[in-house]
Amino acid sequence: MTRVIRGCLAGALLFALSGCTVISGSSESGSGEPGTGGGRAATASQGEVITPALKDVERFWTSAYPQLSGGKAFQAVRGGYHPYTRSDPPPACGDQPGEYQPNAFYCPDGDFIAWDAEVLIPQLQENFGSLLAGVVVAHEYGHAVQTRLGLGDQPTVVLEQQADCFAGAWTADVLAGRSDAFKDVTPEQLDSTVAGLLQLRDQPGTSAENPQAHGNAFDRIRALQDGVEKGATTCAAYRADTIPVTEVQFSDPQDAASGGDLPYGQAVNDLAADAQSYWSRTYPQLAEQPWTTLPVEPFNGSAPQCDTPDATAGGSAFYCRDGDFVAFDNRRLGPALYQAIGDNAVGMLLGGLFARAAQDRRGAGTSGQQGQLAVDCLSGSWTNELLTREPGQGLTLSPGDLDEAVAALLAFGRAGDNSGAGAFQRIASYRDGVLQGLSACQS
Ligand SMILES: [Zn+2]
Repeated sequence: MTRVIRGCLAGALLFALSGCTVISGSSESGSGEPGTGGGRAATASQGEVITPALKDVERFWTSAYPQLSGGKAFQAVRGGYHPYTRSDPPPACGDQPGEYQPNAFYCPDGDFIAWDAEVLIPQLQENFGSLLAGVVVAHEYGHAVQTRLGLGDQPTVVLEQQADCFAGAWTADVLAGRSDAFKDVTPEQLDSTVAGLLQLRDQPGTSAENPQAHGNAFDRIRALQDGVEKGATTCAAYRADTIPVTEVQFSDPQDAASGGDLPYGQAVNDLAADAQSYWSRTYPQLAEQPWTTLPVEPFNGSAPQCDTPDATAGGSAFYCRDGDFVAFDNRRLGPALYQAIGDNAVGMLLGGLFARAAQDRRGAGTSGQQGQLAVDCLSGSWTNELLTREPGQGLTLSPGDLDEAVAALLAFGRAGDNSGAGAFQRIASYRDGVLQGLSACQS
């Protein structure tokens, strides 16, 4: 969150690497720079995942490509597949020598795909599941498709998100049951894949114009989901002026250097006041009645009495229907979200509670999958205002805040945990509110 010039820099430190690639994992996932040790020997099982995944991506493009190419047949990569390790580095790519990097890449010169079979891919598989490893190589294959279609004349961040979108189009084919490499993909696996993309984002504060920019997690997940929902034709139409890139730089070097979230107590107070103000202005559009002030009760011990709690975040935050107030655990839950994710995780907690109250007050459901997704869209509509507000007009988002929102939604619940709505769907519904505002949530 930014008030005036304060920014927040949260999350993992990532190692951005050169070339058109994914980025190595964070210190949290234990992956490493070259030379830090801890790498595992490549095992046969990785080959069993990646090679069938690449074959399956080729099966997909053999079918899908002619619709994008005016009927021309798809040609698989001429230079083949190159798993590599520290002791067996990748081939040279053009004038780039073949050096080990914890990475995966497509090389246009040699028309080949290479990946780190020692550290990156095993770690992604171990931490986030095989589908993420499949998505990573489908992304690289997406660059081969770009080359074939002559789509290279776009900023890097657009090309990267187009490759994510192409990977999503392949994922849709997997979800439709047409893949031999990945069968019976569950909502839990999809959520885990999204959690992995969060680790592969750009470092907060990266400019979208940076020649290495791949996108923040919010945008990369949008691109993947575009591919899943709308297919390869939508991806092929990606241009700088047709996709909503939300990646922003810090407003000044001091802001970037401080990298601080608002202090916890201030974040709670300012965010609650802002949400109150937002709903007092916009609730009449939603419900054709005025908003009455919603009491916010942070509690430090036992929760305030409530006979009809509409709970979220594992029960330690709720909207109380009979008392018409919201409450949350201010001793453990709030500080834990703040420390693990950042100030906008607190924003997501409060935003969700206010949205829950708004939805309930207007007599609409908050339970089950549809109710939860409606709440997430309304919560996103508040974020839309924070995102589009002029600087100096109160709280605004700072770099990293939208990725914190994604991380918070993943923390609030994955598929299989509880109410039926997985993080994959919740992020999509929240994003509708963020990108389109309240109108997206009124259907
Ligand atoms: Zn790429």
